[in-house]
Amino acid sequence: MIVRGWLNSNMVVLRAPGDNVVIDSGYCSHREQTLALLAGAAGLEGEPLERLINTHCHSDHMGGNAAIASAHGCRITIPEGEAKHVDPWTPQSVWMTQFDQRADPFRHDDTLAAGDTFEAGGFTWEAHAAPGHDMDALVYFEPTRRILVSGDALWESGMGFVWPQTGANPAIGAAHEALDAIARLDPQVVIPGHGAPFSDVAGAIATAREKLEAFAADPAKNARHAVKVLFVFALLDKGSMPAADVEAYLARVPCYRELSESFLGMDAPDLARWMLADLERAGAVTIRAGIVWPTMAA
Ligand SMILES: [Zn+2]
Repeated sequence: MIVRGWLNSNMVVLRAPGDNVVIDSGYCSHREQTLALLAGAAGLEGEPLERLINTHCHSDHMGGNAAIASAHGCRITIPEGEAKHVDPWTPQSVWMTQFDQRADPFRHDDTLAAGDTFEAGGFTWEAHAAPGHDMDALVYFEPTRRILVSGDALWESGMGFVWPQTGANPAIGAAHEALDAIARLDPQVVIPGHGAPFSDVAGAIATAREKLEAFAADPAKNARHAVKVLFVFALLDKGSMPAADVEAYLARVPCYRELSESFLGMDAPDLARWMLADLERAGAVTIRAGIVWPTMAA
């Protein structure tokens, strides 16, 4: 397993002679690092790669697909439900406009659906639906060792954010169902899309449920969380941002305006002031000499 940060998803390398598989590929701007890590000691150690499989098609999980496919000539497999988002490839495929994210365009060779199995690393893996953070996401489960590759459906301290909605939020209901399904699989170890592998699965599920319940009860809280997560992600992508530019950035990128108008009732100057103060207080960013820096690893 190649543990990365919050801009780049982790990569899971499943090795078997003549059938090496990697799950997820990181963010496009770190493609050189992705290729080096994949080739190195925690990766293929010089062996060829036959297949790349995605848990879901968000930019931090599929941004390196094109680079890996061109370096290794491997087959690319995506969740069946994601095909509509990436074929044909459009700016919307990566929410380039809405979220200011990027990914290199790639072509997939085949798809996996919930209920399908595939061979990798000498084991048979099952695909299970894991909607919520991404309604078309899959998780991959190996039933003899009870290993779960969870993508962003479950992390040790939560899960990927669920887009807020006023009233009943079907994505939050779906996320609870995905957690039910994971609990039924009863994994011994979870390899998440971000953060280290963990084995207190019941604890992680309880934490994720607590957060989902708080977000369901208070969509504005969820919107504030989404604003911060999306901005820190953008900051990891860019490296840093002059504090004076943040207000214009939030005004320019539509997702912040949408969240603010629907849930927060703040204009861009207020949103920038609140967000930076809150992120700084939480230790997620530091502001030095007028420049905003992320504190976490990319
Ligand atoms: Zn992710």
